[in-house]
Amino acid sequence: MSDCLFCRIRDGEIPGDMVYESDSVLAFNDINPQAPTHVLIIPREHIATLNDLESAHRELVGEMQLVAQQIARERGHADAGYRTVFNCNAAAGQTVFHVHLHLLGGRNLGWPPG
Ligand code: 5GP
Ligand code: ZN
Repeated sequence: MSDCLFCRIRDGEIPGDMVYESDSVLAFNDINPQAPTHVLIIPREHIATLNDLESAHRELVGEMQLVAQQIARERGHADAGYRTVFNCNAAAGQTVFHVHLHLLGGRNLGWPPG
């Protein structure tokens, strides 16, 4: 059994509130949402942080952003605006070490982020 939380959600060992699945990417609602829409988009492949991405992941990262765009559009955030965020390592507040793209929408989002 993996000790990675998001690998366990991928494998169905922990329930995930799925909103999208493809051969390479999953998306599920964040358990502690910071906005009306707060979806996490993850690769099926375990990749710990952004620092571990390689050129072979180019298409995968593009798919993650396009999935975020699609969900944002479906939820009516495209015109008002939304945000996608990758946190990398401690200074950015990364707590789950399986790369994930946050999609936040449905409220005004402050800048700069905290
Ligand atoms: P990070 O801080 O690593 O960028 O983001 C991790 C995110 O995972 C947080 O927003 C947190 O709320 C979310 N999270 C932590 N545990 C779970 C869980 O068991 N299920 C889901 N769906 N999200 C989780
Ligand atoms: Zn993992």
